[in-house]
Amino acid sequence: RGAAQMAPHEAKVGSEGKHPAPAEEEHDEPMWKPGDRVFALWAGNGCFYPATVADVQREQRSLMVTWDDADGSHRTVSFDQVMEPGEETVAWSMAKIDRRASVRDTDNKGRCLFTNEACEPGQVVFVEKPTLVSLPSLSQKLWDHLQSLHEAQPLNLGTVTFHFAALMSQFELDPMSIDVIMDKFVPDPDEEPSEDVVRILQSIQDNMPEILSEHPVDPRRLQRLVSAWRYNSFGHHKEDGLVLYNRISMCAHSCDPTCCWSYGDGDAFVLRARVALKKGDELTISYLQDEDLLKSTAIRQQKLHNWRFTCQCTRCNLRVDTGRGFRCRRCRIGIFYACTVGGLEPCWACNSTPLQEDVQMLLHLEEEYVLRVENLDKFDAADVETVYQAAIDIFERHWILYVMDTMLWEAYRQKNLPDAMEHQRRRIEFHEHYYGRPTFILAWCHEELGDCVLSQFPHRKWQYIQEFQRAYQMLAILCGNHHQYTASPYNKLFAASNPNGSADNGTAGAANVNSA
Ligand SMILES: [Zn+2]
Ligand SMILES: [Zn+2]
Repeated sequence: RGAAQMAPHEAKVGSEGKHPAPAEEEHDEPMWKPGDRVFALWAGNGCFYPATVADVQREQRSLMVTWDDADGSHRTVSFDQVMEPGEETVAWSMAKIDRRASVRDTDNKGRCLFTNEACEPGQVVFVEKPTLVSLPSLSQKLWDHLQSLHEAQPLNLGTVTFHFAALMSQFELDPMSIDVIMDKFVPDPDEEPSEDVVRILQSIQDNMPEILSEHPVDPRRLQRLVSAWRYNSFGHHKEDGLVLYNRISMCAHSCDPTCCWSYGDGDAFVLRARVALKKGDELTISYLQDEDLLKSTAIRQQKLHNWRFTCQCTRCNLRVDTGRGFRCRRCRIGIFYACTVGGLEPCWACNSTPLQEDVQMLLHLEEEYVLRVENLDKFDAADVETVYQAAIDIFERHWILYVMDTMLWEAYRQKNLPDAMEHQRRRIEFHEHYYGRPTFILAWCHEELGDCVLSQFPHRKWQYIQEFQRAYQMLAILCGNHHQYTASPYNKLFAASNPNGSADNGTAGAANVNSA
């Protein structure tokens, strides 16, 4: 097993900070200097946002800051409204990480990661710095050369990123860091150098011999590094590159992961508890994107074969797959759910058992619809609508309906709010039914539904406040109180609770929203 190859969500730079600025006595004046990273209070709404110090006005006891989101307003911030980036975004030392989490051998999954302490939902488990961030800019010349090779004749792996990262590890890292990568999980530790590796080394030898004379590369070793990157790295969140971590690669996958993550300063990996953890609980993340966690067990397992393992998580071991529901043919009220091993469960409303020929027919229809939905053009709303109409006659609480609800929500959110809201409501219903934990998708569904209610039914304060509150609480767990994602529903709650008041003098009591 190894860690994810794709970022499970598009969370960008984490922005958590909790340490107040140093004390304000004359002899202990904050020593801010231009270029320092800070969290500063934006007077527009009283929330903290990430920024860089542009200028220090020591007499006025204030800073001129440059906001990360390039907002040009309220750039002067007094010393007492600035926080240092806290331990929640800055990478921890390996010793501190090792106090929090241990690597242990397991019977069936190899080495895995466990927490040494209980954690509350949303609490940072640890923050780890990358072993290497492999970006084209590290060696543009080599990157361009590999790209031209790939264009002339595609590499078997389908991309140059893994080979480039493997070469960069060899060229850029000290021997100890290379050993960390060599120690990572690969399906076949004794793999022969692949055609790609042989071809790349030969081509570098022919075209850029100076690179290899400076850093000789053994083909077997390069193959091992390529596989280590392939099975353990994460896609870089901004550029065309990859990131590899040390401890995080020990984090196994689960379709019901105990942890979630976002990026901190300098591509640090901020690992948080998604649920309450007891001492000794396993730390798991999802190698799949949020939307794939809402697909059937069979589809999830199929996608996870990219990492060469069969998922044995609690969700994958359920006997009944409640993400594959079929409308009962007899009563038309209840649902037959699919069994993971084949066949259908009795209807939960009328308790009738589906006839054998109905089972065959329904499972066959399901295969057809899965293909149809996978090939739908989400911009052709009329076609999606046609398939949806036909599908709701056969399926209920089925992930393909969720996929189409998502397409129709997207299609209608600008021009047909009542229809859009109904599809959004159904998305939330399915998500909570099939997988009830906080995800970025679910949080944003709630926030967007709150926006719709506010514009469509401004008198339903009870409803939109509830939606914003759910979004806020989930995002606080997923990426912390001070992340820009969390600030968004927070600001909406703040505005809803103070319709007439100006927010200019508000303080950043994001945690107080609990009582909003
Ligand atoms: Zn699973
Ligand atoms: Zn029935």
